[in-house]
Amino acid sequence: MRLKDKIALITGAASGIGLATAKRFVEEGAIVAACDYNEEALKVAKKEVGDSYRIYKMDVSKHDEVKEIVNKIVDDLKKIDILVNNAGITKDNFLVKMPENDFDAVISVNLKGVYNVTQVVVENMMERKRGVILNASSVVGVYGNIGQTNYVASKAGVIGMTKTWAKEFARYGIRVNAVAPGFVKTPMTAKVPQKVIDYMNSKTPLGRMGEAVEIANTYLFLASDEASFITGQVLGVDGGLVI
Ligand code: NAP
Repeated sequence: MRLKDKIALITGAASGIGLATAKRFVEEGAIVAACDYNEEALKVAKKEVGDSYRIYKMDVSKHDEVKEIVNKIVDDLKKIDILVNNAGITKDNFLVKMPENDFDAVISVNLKGVYNVTQVVVENMMERKRGVILNASSVVGVYGNIGQTNYVASKAGVIGMTKTWAKEFARYGIRVNAVAPGFVKTPMTAKVPQKVIDYMNSKTPLGRMGEAVEIANTYLFLASDEASFITGQVLGVDGGLVI
């Protein structure tokens, strides 16, 4: 029970890595404020995860809506110990074919969404002089990737914010880290063609895609007191892809 009595807010918690993280956190004793803009998926997940999975419909890209919902979560649950900024989308294309809307959409969820949610949540953490903030980056945020200008820009930006906030909030006892997954089996990667998956697996020393629970376990470690001296880091969880 590594997260006994902790309250964790997880964005994008209705699917993939976010849902796997919510499940692991609940297994370890946390109450999870599961936020997602897909309300139906949240309701389905609640049946599976149970009463400790409290659902909140929230679009991370909407600044005012985030403020309203996060304040409601604090009213309902009294505090937020752990924030996992997990919600993310892709709209891949080569730069010359990438519409402005697709650039803006990915930045508004993956980058501005992290700013929106953290700005409100951190106030509660600063008052209480404790907290853990975990951000979803990606190996491509460190190394770049063809066809992902918008996504890579967002994930590199998340690393920048992670390091900045680690410095800015350390004096309040708040740790901030990012996780950079490689290729993980989730609905997000379900649309990737099999030949690309085969190629990625051939480039990965461990020879396979990651499972969502393997990223969830990384968030669990970083959220727990076992990681009490770790801040400002980007932890790669990629089967050795970028060695
Ligand atoms: P996923 O299965 O698509 O789950 C993402 C969840 O976020 C979905 O429930 C999605 O709802 C929700 N969401 C999207 N936009 C939102 C918004 N504006 N507000 C609130 N919720 C929103 O994706 P995943 O693979 O688990 O990815 C989770 C995170 O890990 C993302 O940040 C992703 O970039 C990162 N990541 C994933 C991989 C990978 O290989 N899977 C690798 C590196 C990094 P809908 O389903 O309705 O869109």
